[in-house]
Amino acid sequence: MISIRLIAVLFGLLLASPAFAQVRVVTTLADLAWVAEEVGGEHVQVRSLCAPHEDPHYVSPTPSLVAAVGDADLFVEVGLNLEIWTDRLLDGAGNPKVRRGGVGYVLASRGVTTKQRPATLSRSQGDLHPEGNPHIWLDPLNMKVIVGNVTEGLAQVDPVHAAEFRARAEALNARIDAALYGEELLALLGSALLDRLAQGGQLHEYLERELAGAPLRDRLGGWLGRAQAMQGRSVVYYHQNWIYFADRFGLSVAAYVEAKPGVQPSAGHLKRVGEIVTANRVPVVVVTNYYDERLPRRIASDAGIQAVSVPIMTGGTKDAVTWFALLDKLVVAHATAFEAQTP
Ligand SMILES: [Zn+2]
Repeated sequence: MISIRLIAVLFGLLLASPAFAQVRVVTTLADLAWVAEEVGGEHVQVRSLCAPHEDPHYVSPTPSLVAAVGDADLFVEVGLNLEIWTDRLLDGAGNPKVRRGGVGYVLASRGVTTKQRPATLSRSQGDLHPEGNPHIWLDPLNMKVIVGNVTEGLAQVDPVHAAEFRARAEALNARIDAALYGEELLALLGSALLDRLAQGGQLHEYLERELAGAPLRDRLGGWLGRAQAMQGRSVVYYHQNWIYFADRFGLSVAAYVEAKPGVQPSAGHLKRVGEIVTANRVPVVVVTNYYDERLPRRIASDAGIQAVSVPIMTGGTKDAVTWFALLDKLVVAHATAFEAQTP
């Protein structure tokens, strides 16, 4: 009798232990893995297929990646033709649960308003992005949409813990709001109004309003507070993967080192970029750390300005292990370049 009771107890412990029923989540990018871990907590076991210092456009669907997708309960990708390698991966894995349209498939970009949608579809325009720019995760407002999509995916495949996932998502989004606007302005105006203003491009105009004799702008904190010095200023990037960040933080993109995404620039184009840098008093050329830095560094040194290499994905450097740390790093790297420049 005792041994049967013991077995029952042990079995009960096994069922109750989080490892027993963890949802196996596979994501394309580390940023999506980070979201799944934040929302899923102890109920998930997460793997990202693309390393955070690897170009997400080009990942080889190796047998080990195919096997991971074959075992997955939930598969999360950005979509928008960023991960052009996932078609082969999903086909090869033969896991109906995570096929597009399956219960365990999450399109993380669903509901995000895309930018830079090409007017004409032609490979002569460079690579890749016919549905608009897919590099969406550096805009905190987009990140909240991604959090919502991942949360609903988790709730679908693990309905028992759905309420917990939604509560954790709400807490995560509140942390994103505080990091973006600062606690003081957030408490004063609330995230619904702030998001609506930011989404419509009217936030800075609205913050000129006065409260108790001082403009509301003085109460803006967080990343947007730090970014005030770069409002309307110009920057040069290597690839077209910064438009959401630039727009959110008020930067104007004067030029890209790549004339067309994914295509090596000509000497004539590089010369033109140099002229644009001088004419717009661009203080910095920013290059994502998985691209070759030689061209951007040459343009920068010819123009007498600095080139900065930065990660674009969570975990892309050792000091950017969370998405919050990544955004901190990016806002500081940009703001520092503009603050150092004499007006
Ligand atoms: Zn791209």
